[in-house]
Amino acid sequence: MHSPNRPQPKPGIMDIAAYVPGRESAPGAAKVWKLSSNETPLGPSPAALEAVQAASGHLEAYPDGAAARLREAIAEVHGLNPGNILCSNGSDELLGLLAQTYLKPGDEGIFTEHGFLVYRIQILAAGATPVVVKEKDERADVDAILAAMTERTRIVFLANPNNPTGTYLPVEEVRRLHAGLPGHVLLVLDAAYAEYVRRNDYEAGIELVSSFENVVMTRTFSKIYGLAGLRIGWMYAPAHVVDAVNRVRGPFNVNALAIAAGAAAIRDRAHVERAAAHNEAWRAWLNEELTKLGLRVTPSIGNFLLVHFPQNGGKTAEDADAFLVARGFVLRRVTAYGFPNALRMSVGTEEANRGVVAALSKFLNG
Ligand SMILES: *Cc1c(COP(=O)(O)O)cnc(C)c1O
Repeated sequence: MHSPNRPQPKPGIMDIAAYVPGRESAPGAAKVWKLSSNETPLGPSPAALEAVQAASGHLEAYPDGAAARLREAIAEVHGLNPGNILCSNGSDELLGLLAQTYLKPGDEGIFTEHGFLVYRIQILAAGATPVVVKEKDERADVDAILAAMTERTRIVFLANPNNPTGTYLPVEEVRRLHAGLPGHVLLVLDAAYAEYVRRNDYEAGIELVSSFENVVMTRTFSKIYGLAGLRIGWMYAPAHVVDAVNRVRGPFNVNALAIAAGAAAIRDRAHVERAAAHNEAWRAWLNEELTKLGLRVTPSIGNFLLVHFPQNGGKTAEDADAFLVARGFVLRRVTAYGFPNALRMSVGTEEANRGVVAALSKFLNG
C-alpha cells in the first residue's frame, strides 16, 4: 500500500490498463509505412485542408461551443436533425462522456471479448464494472450479450463493424439485440468504420436511433475522412441523451480547426467515394494474397484485416511483426484484444499493400 497521505485515485482507476496506440516508427528502416491505426492512405479532402488554413487566422478566438457549422454539415449530408447531433474531440471522448453520464459505481457496462479497448477504460473510469461477453467466430454474439444482462446493466457498447476483427452484425441482429434490452439500458453503436461498409444488410444505427429512446450511434472523422489528427467525433442520439451529455462535456470540446475541417470534409463526397473504392479493391486483393500465403484472415468489412499466424516454427505474429518492422511495415499487435498470435493491418497505399505481401511471403518461405 502507498502512503494514505497522498491523493488516491477513486476505485477502478488503477485497474485501467492505459490504452497503447499503434506504433508509428520502425527504427532502422529507410522508409516507414504506418498501417497500425486504420488511418486512410488517401489523406483528408483538399477542401478540409483549405478550411484549416482559413480558420487558422483566428486562433485567438474561442470556437463555437455548439459546433453549429459542423453539426449542420453532418445533418445535411446524413439527412438528420442537427438538434440530435453532438460533436466531440474524437469519438473516444464521446464514449467517455456517455459512460460518465450513464454509469455510476455498482452499475455494469457490457462489451464483447474482442471489442474496442476504450469501452473497458471508460466503464472503469466512470467507476462502474466492465462485463466482457464471449464472441462466436470472432463476432459479437447477441444471445450471449442478452444472457449477460443483469439488473445492474446500464450500457452496452457495440462496435459495428468491430475493431480489430472487422466483422459485423447485420441490422437484423442489432435489432434483435435492441429488442432484448430493457428501455433503461443504453445501446451505444460505435460505427467508426460505417463509411467503408458496402453491405445491404448493414445499418450504422440511424434508423434505430430515430425509432427508440435508448440507442445512440457514434461516428468519427478519424477514419475515412483522414482527420484523426484533428480529433473529431459525433453522435446521433435522442434529444434527451444530447441534453444530458451536453451538461457533462467541456464547453469548447471541439476546436475551431476541427469544426472548419470537418464541415468541409463531410461535404466532399467524391473524396469519400474514392477512399471507399480504394479500400474495397485493396482489401479484396490483400485478403486473397494473404490467404494464398497460407495465413488465415478474418473476413473484414472495414479498412483493415486481422491476420492470424502459425503458433510456432519461428512464424508467430511476434516474429512476423519484427520481420515487417525491420522493413518499415508497421502493423498492430493485438494481444490486448485477445489475439496474441495475430496482427492487424490497415489497408494502405498500393506500395504499402504490395510491400507487406512481398515481405510476408519472404518471412513465411524464407
Ligand atoms: C478508430 C476507432 C474509433 C475512433 O476514435 P476517434 O477518437 O474518433 O479517433 C472509435 N471506435 C472504434 C472501434 C475505432 O476503431
